[in-house]
Amino acid sequence: MIPTRPVWVEISHSRLTANWKLLRAAAPVEAELVAVIKANAYGHGAAACAPALAAAGAAWFGVTCVEEAVALRQICPDSRILVMSGLWRGEAEAVIEHRLSPQVWEPLHFDLIEEAARKLNSPPQSVRVQLEIDSGMSRQGVRSLVQLKELLARITPDSPIQIEGVMTHFSAPEILEPDETAQQLERFAAALDLIAECGIHPRWIHAGNSTTLLAQHHTPALLQMAERHNARLMLRPGIALYGYPVPVTPHEASPSHAAQKLTPVLAWKTRIVSVRTIEPGETAGYNMTFKARRPTRLALIPVGYADGLNRLLSSRGHALVRGHRVPIAGRVSMDQTILDVTDIPGIEIGDEVVLIGEQGQEKITAADLAGLTGTISYEVLCAIGARVPRVMID
Ligand SMILES: *Cc1c(COP(=O)(O)O)cnc(C)c1O
Repeated sequence: MIPTRPVWVEISHSRLTANWKLLRAAAPVEAELVAVIKANAYGHGAAACAPALAAAGAAWFGVTCVEEAVALRQICPDSRILVMSGLWRGEAEAVIEHRLSPQVWEPLHFDLIEEAARKLNSPPQSVRVQLEIDSGMSRQGVRSLVQLKELLARITPDSPIQIEGVMTHFSAPEILEPDETAQQLERFAAALDLIAECGIHPRWIHAGNSTTLLAQHHTPALLQMAERHNARLMLRPGIALYGYPVPVTPHEASPSHAAQKLTPVLAWKTRIVSVRTIEPGETAGYNMTFKARRPTRLALIPVGYADGLNRLLSSRGHALVRGHRVPIAGRVSMDQTILDVTDIPGIEIGDEVVLIGEQGQEKITAADLAGLTGTISYEVLCAIGARVPRVMID
């Protein structure tokens, strides 16, 4: 069914590809980039974003899980697909069938891939994986050199597992002083040396997110590591693709040119579906948290916390209508929110309302909403509900 509820997200094709080009130009020429489109492209819709990025030159995509990867394979038959959260029981067959490249670190991952490879083909065909090193994030990855040695001992000549890449993830690449990444780089380097000693020579070495790419503080060390091992460096930008660079501390004297030029790709819009005037003393919304002090014009938008409009924006957030910022009046409901439009004359049913994006001279970003709700732009974007249709514009 064609969406008819007046709530939608617009994805700017031109901004997305411009951001990609800025990141491509800011990265070292030797480095490959993984366009991270996990979690449905940070809420932007992977089905629309991936082909746009592929057309702009992205060869690699990073997704959350095998399910996301299989869906992406249908629309990007030739892209390389990095599965960033490992794999689970019952998923190794799809990894092989759809030529996915999973991050692996648990002996269980090796078991699952070996079993599936033997079951599907005889002799088993080789399966390319990316070995993850836990260099200090304590989330995913091989923790110690002892564990690493044990895992590598499983790569016998008859093993179907081919370690195509070795990667790690940094926990605080935005903090440059003190350099919170230095120790992680050291641990990663030690793991790479051990892997080389075991006679395994990965083609790719990757670490670093949007911030690593834009701050350029750690890329020389990463390039050196790759060179030392005759591998190519990959960087994995995510949030910057969507136009939200993470500020680094201490603030650089001249913030990177690319970071300043990135523009938000997503706009979240709706329309006014009802208007009314309430008298002084009357209240609006659940629990009467909004009380009119003057004759007050209220406008209803059909968006609520079930769409991802955080309830913490109750009486705190704003929306844009007729080029003006108007406050949210009282509680955000599940499916509806009330705006106080008293100061804006002429508001009518059907007027376009911007929750994230630009209108006239005004602008609201996901970072603004994150500031009001105690979170980060990533969560604001990912939280926009699945029932809100994403439409590509430009
Ligand atoms: C999400 C993620 C990224 C991208 O991070 P951004 O901060 O969005 O650039 C890169 N690498 C890994 C392993 C990730 O999980």
